[in-house]
Amino acid sequence: MKLAELGEFGFIERIRAAVAATAASGAGVRLGIGDDCAVTELPPGQVLLTSTDLLIEEIHFRSAWSDWRTLGGKCVAVNVSDVAAMGGTPRHLYLGLGIPADMALADLDAFMDGFLQAAADYGAVLVGGDTCRSPGPLMVSVTVEGAAPADQVVARGGARPGDAVYVSGTLGDSALALRRLQSGRPLADDLARRHHRPQARVALGRALAEAQLPSAMIDVSDGVLADLGHILDASAVGARLEQPQLPLSPAFRQALAEEPALLELALCGGEDYELLFTVPAEKEPLLAALVADVAITRIGTVIAAEQGLLLADETGRLRPARAKGYNHFRG
Ligand SMILES: [Mg+2]
Repeated sequence: MKLAELGEFGFIERIRAAVAATAASGAGVRLGIGDDCAVTELPPGQVLLTSTDLLIEEIHFRSAWSDWRTLGGKCVAVNVSDVAAMGGTPRHLYLGLGIPADMALADLDAFMDGFLQAAADYGAVLVGGDTCRSPGPLMVSVTVEGAAPADQVVARGGARPGDAVYVSGTLGDSALALRRLQSGRPLADDLARRHHRPQARVALGRALAEAQLPSAMIDVSDGVLADLGHILDASAVGARLEQPQLPLSPAFRQALAEEPALLELALCGGEDYELLFTVPAEKEPLLAALVADVAITRIGTVIAAEQGLLLADETGRLRPARAKGYNHFRG
């Protein structure tokens, strides 16, 4: 069947039925898809966290490099990652779709399957959105609402000199995978997974926030240098990063051994979706007791703003590390 035969309302009804069949309960949904507004509620004492992402075919993704189900899941994960970065739990999702007239209904269904499965995995429910025809590429707008206890929200602005800098997981895998896709080289499964199926670090973000350990936190979407730069700007501090401490996967280390210039991808590559956070020295011992599904690594120290962002190599030599994250409005 073609989307044109189903029509906009047929398509929305299809989504509504799929949500009804899969949605997690307990997300505070009084009224979901099908009325003029969704009606939702927050647990008592919690504040609302809201974030929006816009994803456009050929800019953020290529359907040739992924399948539609995987892409639907990634659209959820990258959005939920922002809630994780504040220490929150995702609850509600809103989805706007600009759909090319020639897109097959089977592909749309696969995209929605992946989207709703990922939403359910994160305990979030799709409660609204909009669809229209796109004269060009597929456009996906995802808004997430999350919640966190009011005194446990972690912003970017609280880092102080002397705090330790930590990051979860490994850096650069997604950017390395993207480079291989762009050059048409074969891609090992673990690297492909890191690029196509990123995991938002919700459990880690919650655990850190609940223990009130981070002074500042952000998710790594534009590369560790650029995203650390956002913390430094918001906190009016500098940082010294230890290059030998950067957590790298076995696949990344192997590639790096063949091509040392790839280190750039660990520093400036995007889409890691790991959590980058600062912890006051006196709270560092408490990190060991944290129960998390992903390793964390100390990669540096917060210093005074005047010193800027410095990168120390294995000999301890320092160089200024200007953040060169992805910027949509530059080339
Ligand atoms: Mg973010």
